[in-house]
Amino acid sequence: MFSRILIANRGEIALRIIRAARELGIQTVCVYSEADADGPWLEHADRTVCIGSGPASDSYLRIDRIISAAEIANVDAIHPGYGFLAENAHFAEVCRDCHIEFIGPSPEAMGLLGDKISCKKMAKASKTPVFPGSDGAIEEIDDAVEQAQKIGYPVIVKASAGGGGRGMRIANNEVALRSGIAAAKQEAQAAFGNGAVYIEKFLENARHVEIQVLGDKHGNAIHLYNRDCTSQRRHQKLVEEGPAPDVDAKVRDAVARSAAELIRKAEYSGAATVEFLMDAKQNFYMLEVNTRVQVEHPVTEMITGVDIVKEMIKVAAGEPLSIRQRDVQMNGHAIECRINAEDPERNFMPQAGLVEVFIQPGGPGVRVDTHMRGGYRIPPNYDSMIGKLIVHAPTRAQAIAKMRGALDEFRIAPIKTTIPLHRRIMDSKPFIDADFDIHYIERLLKQGALIGSPAAPSKASDARSHRR
Ligand code: ADP
Repeated sequence: MFSRILIANRGEIALRIIRAARELGIQTVCVYSEADADGPWLEHADRTVCIGSGPASDSYLRIDRIISAAEIANVDAIHPGYGFLAENAHFAEVCRDCHIEFIGPSPEAMGLLGDKISCKKMAKASKTPVFPGSDGAIEEIDDAVEQAQKIGYPVIVKASAGGGGRGMRIANNEVALRSGIAAAKQEAQAAFGNGAVYIEKFLENARHVEIQVLGDKHGNAIHLYNRDCTSQRRHQKLVEEGPAPDVDAKVRDAVARSAAELIRKAEYSGAATVEFLMDAKQNFYMLEVNTRVQVEHPVTEMITGVDIVKEMIKVAAGEPLSIRQRDVQMNGHAIECRINAEDPERNFMPQAGLVEVFIQPGGPGVRVDTHMRGGYRIPPNYDSMIGKLIVHAPTRAQAIAKMRGALDEFRIAPIKTTIPLHRRIMDSKPFIDADFDIHYIERLLKQGALIGSPAAPSKASDARSHRR
């Protein structure tokens, strides 16, 4: 096992990794930026190293400085967390060259699954369900037009190297497809240095369901069932839960097994998430594979009892997975709300500055993953997520009730947060009925149903007008 690891991240995930390392008897070294000099998580690290100024491009994204810190502190391994360098295959390669273990997949496995075209090919070979579409990169526009006629409009043009929603175009007809391909190619070339694009069927009104998987360096791969992340705004997840409600157990297990098979074929070690869209008939279509620990991993930890971050560290050190597929049990239901320092009343404007009051909820089945406390000053440089509230209860209805209570207990002032928004989501009919699709939050926001003073229920409720 490692004796010392470096954490190339900040905030709640840095603290989460410190906790896992400590339980394993591993020392931690945290790198931090000048803007994070007062970060409460740093107090729990065995050693801290400042690597630059506030902007991530001058600190958390500086591979040279992180590697220098790792060498000076003499660490065995680096945990990248999520965001920043977590899915950067070049960083994983530099770590390997410097004989520092990257706590995550090999650069090869990351490259294979991170590239959407090669990932889709591999998924097909693993019987992981994918969208109908072109088999590889589009060479001739006429071929793509022919393909689109076969699968039927609307189609979506996507960049093989895509991320963050860039390089995507939806086309409803041939004219839009021809111009969409040209535009997506250009955008992808500029953003990723790789202009390869492909097309696939565009699915409207779907749910987002994803599978948590784990692999080791001995050829083992398992799944930890699924999560539903349909509650999104601008493709950003707001609420996640597991297991995904109302998915037929046979379908659920078959998709989960195929996701494990996909990462086994890719010789993947560490934690990954295979993301899907699911239509009203419970057909699954793979979106992409995230080759890192996800923000929403606690949902799965609560329902399976598996410590995902500890497993990541152990498999990076060469240990086999500590659980076999048949030992994975699912218990009850978990829901996570992402607490963002944003003002929902003012178009979700990010909030920085002093947090005077921070009182977190508690009680059985309530977990708060956060680096926050009263007196902390939120720097303006980073993501607005300041914590995650996770609840666990025997049933989904009980989990919703518990989440309502926990949200009511949570006190953060004077910074505005998404807590009141979550409280309204927990009372909304589409969420309660799990009768929703990835656009429902935006629809409710447009109707004014989630912000401001509580409105009378609208006559044509979202659930009825958009029944799946
Ligand atoms: P990125 O890597 O840029 O985030 P994804 O492949 O994850 O790209 O897609 C981002 C979002 O775009 C998805 O969450 C989904 O909402 C939408 N999307 C992508 N592909 C499709 C599709 N075939 N049909 C419908 N929506 C899609």
